[in-house]
Amino acid sequence: MTLRSKVKIFMVYILAFFILTSSLSIPLKAEAAASVQVKKLAAGTKYETKLYVIKSGKAGPVVLIVGGIHGNEIAGYKAALKVCNYRPARGTLLVIPQANVLAIEAKKRVASGQADLNRAFPSTKSGTAKGTLAKSILKVIKDYNVDWVMDMHEGYDYAKNTSTSSVGQSLIYYPSSSAKTIGSKIVGTLNKYISLNRKEFSLLRYPAKGSLTRAAAVTVGAKSFIFETCSKESFSTRVNNQLKAANMLLSYLNMK
Ligand SMILES: [Zn+2]
Repeated sequence: MTLRSKVKIFMVYILAFFILTSSLSIPLKAEAAASVQVKKLAAGTKYETKLYVIKSGKAGPVVLIVGGIHGNEIAGYKAALKVCNYRPARGTLLVIPQANVLAIEAKKRVASGQADLNRAFPSTKSGTAKGTLAKSILKVIKDYNVDWVMDMHEGYDYAKNTSTSSVGQSLIYYPSSSAKTIGSKIVGTLNKYISLNRKEFSLLRYPAKGSLTRAAAVTVGAKSFIFETCSKESFSTRVNNQLKAANMLLSYLNMK
């Protein structure tokens, strides 16, 4: 083979390489690819738990859905696990389905020797979270600059029953006009299917100081709410109501 033909073959390879790589990269440049990443929060500690980062590849809001802050509020984290399979039409969906694995393993609101995770978050913009787990969840809120937070919980009694302090069947929002709008829409829609007034959902405001939702509102200005089902209802009803509320939020944001 002459030197000239070797050079020709080499040139053909170079040309083929450029045609192939440029044709592959054109669609990638036009639009970011959709992706699902599973990250570890508090990695390597006893608190280690999963964060799902589900990107649509299209511009849009960042929504965080959390379950299992309290370990005995099962419908919340079962519903949040299902949300991990969602693929948003736009924006980014973050899911921490089982935030507090120690409490979930213990099947208790709070694992023994631990503090209440929903009282460990800052209630001021510059405040700090208490403990490894709350710190790593707060870091997610700040790193992704979340726009919306839904935190899935359960109460042992109905909020309408004022003889207990439980807030089952309620949506507790941190005041902002859009959080109130979607909150009342969710409550109104779910109540259409509930025949007994005492079992209806209540629209409440101001999540407790130290709660995740309040911290998300005061630190990064997220629109946020706690959604509470009541453990007196059947398990499937509770999971369905959690999912209906999440679906209404995502539909409202044109992500579903
Ligand atoms: Zn709770």
